[in-house]
Amino acid sequence: MFKTILKVVGVLAALFVLTIGLLIGYIFGLNQKPRSGPALGHGIEQIADSIATTYYFEVGGGKVVLIDAGNDPTGAPILAALKSHGKTADDVEAIFITHAHPDHDAAVNVFKKAKVYAMKDEAYVADGEQAYGSPLSGLMGKFNPHPFKVTNPLKDQETVNVDGLNITAYEVSGHTPGSAVYLADGVLFLGDAASIGSNQKIRGPVYLFSTNAAQGIASLGALLKKLEPRFHEVEFITSSHSGTLPGPQGLSALADYVKEHSAN
Ligand SMILES: [Zn+2]
Repeated sequence: MFKTILKVVGVLAALFVLTIGLLIGYIFGLNQKPRSGPALGHGIEQIADSIATTYYFEVGGGKVVLIDAGNDPTGAPILAALKSHGKTADDVEAIFITHAHPDHDAAVNVFKKAKVYAMKDEAYVADGEQAYGSPLSGLMGKFNPHPFKVTNPLKDQETVNVDGLNITAYEVSGHTPGSAVYLADGVLFLGDAASIGSNQKIRGPVYLFSTNAAQGIASLGALLKKLEPRFHEVEFITSSHSGTLPGPQGLSALADYVKEHSAN
């Protein structure tokens, strides 16, 4: 009897692992892949850090601004990019965090001189006080495994100038309590608020890894309304795990997604 129970438990455990594996393959397999390189124009460099992308801007005075801080807690891919431009960790003036999931913020603390910007509502998730609260958060840790302090909390639609670079933050809560989308230098950085499928369609926040996916979809609708006066500025939209689309195509794909998935 005991052996039979053990066998059943074993089979169930194997099925569970297989299901999770297939699920992760499905979630990431449908997306375009992150790539390194200067594909965004204006000298914005993309740093692929296994599954996620960090973005690198050179600003005035030879300083550097990052959007997100990668999946590798040593910061190796970002440090390599800095080195290729003759720079070090201390040249990073500011980091703008899209959200405090561990594949986006792992190396924040490597850049000791950087100001750290994120939405006000993300601060307690960032410093590890507040749990993520997503259905599968057990897989990445219930709390942020790389806690960091948000030194410069942002308000919705706030524009910050860092050494000549204007960057506007839009709150898109849902994937996490204070997820942000940033508009800077003609590029809309979606983080995980939405992803770009290999069919070039937009998909909203992944339910299993989101605190409140339905809220995330509503936030995307609100984002489009707030962004409307600046649509003409958007040359590209880009997502952390899934590449880039030209601005007009990306915005209309985003609008299609919101229309199809809104409550009414
Ligand atoms: Zn995420």
